[in-house]
Amino acid sequence: MTIPFVDLKAQYLSIKSEIDNAISNTIENTAFIGGKPVLDFEKAFAELYGVKHVISCANGTDSLYILMKMLGIGSGDEVITVANSWISSSETISQTGATPVFIDIHPDYYSMDEKLLENKINSKTKAVIAVHLQGQMCEIDTIKNICDKHNIHLIEDCAQSHFSEFKGVKAGLTGIAGSFSFYPGKNLGAYGDAGCIITNDDTLAKNCKMYATHGALVKHQHQIEGINSRLDGIQAAILSAKLPHILDWTESRIKIASIYNELFKSVPDVITPKLRPNSKHTYHLYVIRVQKRSELLEFLKQNGVECAIHYPTPLPFLECYKKQNYAAQDFPISYKYKDEILSLPIYPELKEQQIIKVVALIKEFYHKN
Ligand SMILES: *Cc1c(COP(=O)(O)O)cnc(C)c1O
Repeated sequence: MTIPFVDLKAQYLSIKSEIDNAISNTIENTAFIGGKPVLDFEKAFAELYGVKHVISCANGTDSLYILMKMLGIGSGDEVITVANSWISSSETISQTGATPVFIDIHPDYYSMDEKLLENKINSKTKAVIAVHLQGQMCEIDTIKNICDKHNIHLIEDCAQSHFSEFKGVKAGLTGIAGSFSFYPGKNLGAYGDAGCIITNDDTLAKNCKMYATHGALVKHQHQIEGINSRLDGIQAAILSAKLPHILDWTESRIKIASIYNELFKSVPDVITPKLRPNSKHTYHLYVIRVQKRSELLEFLKQNGVECAIHYPTPLPFLECYKKQNYAAQDFPISYKYKDEILSLPIYPELKEQQIIKVVALIKEFYHKN
């Protein structure tokens, strides 16, 4: 029995006719770019999520970039983000001409440590990108209060936190806007690249839509120079077909995480993910912390269990930020944890027997080592 890290085919097979119909209908109607499937998905996602505007775009990197551009962020500005994330959370800041400023992660919850935020704010700071990593939200109300106090924008990167909650408020609804990715492996995934922005701000929504479509809300009337960042009709139709299942899939992830948690109680070598009080973690990733990680990773691989590391190098220590000369002590938690974190297989279709096998192998490894 091999256990993949994610199994997108298992999900496809579980809703095959719905997906196949969605794709063939879109082709029959030649609704390849924009049009009904895209409008339908935007409307359905807005309704289910409880937000006024959904602006679809090509991916969850563009959504961050579009937001910052339309919030007026550019050269000479600073935007604060977190040291452990996917590169999109910082490269988009640089793309606007602004400078990314990193803060370390919280030792228990692995996302932005809000206690470190205020120290990094200065007169150049224009925004904070709070990344709700792994499916668990940051301490977003504290972050929002700090942003309000300093009159800076709060953008939420929700690429890993569809339908996650903190104090009953969903990811993306506290700041000025939320940015989503529908990359295939995300909790709600297309069959190619896709993303969106959500916001309750009418003006920002209109401007983002305009910027993503060459600066024109009406064809040939280009009010500004924009970019081409559109959602394909086929991707939108696939997302609409998947949407009725997302809440069940989310519950399955939570159930799987609770089974892992329970089984790991008898494995003291494993530090399981800690739940922030008042938080609904949707487990895009199930990340444990261990010693001898590379040996464990190799042992699991040899026994047919595929794991991953999110992320092997914290952003400030990547080659592309070498010029900034960051030192380990600048981001001590991210630096230490980069050698300890391990993402175990998790996806809604993962079976209890498979979870039991993963945990049994880890137990066996630490028994021998
Ligand atoms: C996946 C991801 C993105 C980017 O999404 P794409 O759709 O791949 O461009 C941005 N931020 C985070 C935290 C992500 O995990």
